[in-house]
Amino acid sequence: MSDGQTASPSSGTRVAALRARLDAQSGTGPQTSGPARLVRAPGRVNLIGEHTDYNEGLVLPAAIDREFWILFEPWDRPEVVMTSADMDETRSFSFEGLSPETRSKSWIDYVAATAWAMREAGLPIQGFRGAMGSTVPIGSGLSSSAALEMASSWALAVPGAPRPDPAAMAAIAQRAENRYVGVNCGIMDQFASAAGQAGHALLIDCRINKFKATPMPSDLSLVVCDTGSPHRLDASAYNTRRSECELGVELIAEREPGVKALRDVDEAMLARNRDRLPEVVARRCEHVVQEDGRVMATVAALRDGDLDALGRLFAASHASLRDLYEVSSAELDAMVEIAVSVPGVVASRMTGAGFGGCTVNLVKLGAEVALQDAVMAQYEKRTGLTPRVFIVATVDGAGEVELDA
Ligand code: ADP
Ligand code: MG
Repeated sequence: MSDGQTASPSSGTRVAALRARLDAQSGTGPQTSGPARLVRAPGRVNLIGEHTDYNEGLVLPAAIDREFWILFEPWDRPEVVMTSADMDETRSFSFEGLSPETRSKSWIDYVAATAWAMREAGLPIQGFRGAMGSTVPIGSGLSSSAALEMASSWALAVPGAPRPDPAAMAAIAQRAENRYVGVNCGIMDQFASAAGQAGHALLIDCRINKFKATPMPSDLSLVVCDTGSPHRLDASAYNTRRSECELGVELIAEREPGVKALRDVDEAMLARNRDRLPEVVARRCEHVVQEDGRVMATVAALRDGDLDALGRLFAASHASLRDLYEVSSAELDAMVEIAVSVPGVVASRMTGAGFGGCTVNLVKLGAEVALQDAVMAQYEKRTGLTPRVFIVATVDGAGEVELDA
């Protein structure tokens, strides 16, 4: 976490814009009880390990410098009043009677959900009025929702009260999104936003909720390409994949005692039980089992600077998500095809749940602009959609940022 880190000069404009939003709220409530404070939380990109988190498997995300910021003034009321600069909207909720039934189906739900889950976990929370802004694209698979939850968790926390470690805080925010917002996500997004480390990706073991920071090679850049695709993996397709995995576990466990999740299944075990599984279930399981192996191989390739291996692993992950898990799309496939044809692009694959959203690319330093140019020149012609290219840096996880006096 970056508790106590000083706001960078480039954040000055952002803080000023949020302060103007906060000032515009004056008259919305009673006196605040403390000076304004600033918290931030990053979005994330997953390098590899897709659809493995809910199978108790391995993921390798990095927190990135696309971030959520909340400027807020604590007060003594059990209430939050918040302006979203991006939505140009002010919303509020009360701590009294807070429950998933009080959901308003708006963005404030993510803040209320975090308050609810923190309280359920026995953590004290404080009310505030605040203004928030974000550079995490919404709904592109870089996890704006998790960043919003983690930033909220810092604003809601009572100063001086014991704070759970990032993994535990991530589990609380995941519960907020699962149970209050009603999105059945795994823990990866919140974990990466909470525990990120500059210069590193996080190897997260979703079975035990523990992580190890993996240094990113200093000669590679991380580039995210947004397909701008309106289709996204919807809740029902996502839930179907989850239940296909669960069915696979159930059928394999009938013969293999001790199998509780696909994490317990290796390729040999899958092969000897394949005839028990419906064909589509077997393919889903094959993806998950092999993807866990690719995550470990990617960690080794990053450590060894083995660029060829990185390229092969990303390509294999993408092909598996396309052919076995069937969550890619024509747009994601086109984006990867364009990227891998650019000299200096080391590795490229779809990232996130799929059907739309972004690709993640490892690129030799200096080749970022060539990738950007190729995407801008070719992608729209091929798909009719407008792409966006983000050259991103890995950053620390959520925390409070010191404001200049
Ligand atoms: P993502 O992949 O970006 O996490 P989600 O659908 O999970 O996509 O979450 C997006 C939701 O998060 C938005 O619909 C909105 O409710 C909330 N959100 C994200 N960014 C903002 C923002 N800048 N201001 C207000 N709400 C936001
Ligand atoms: Mg989300």
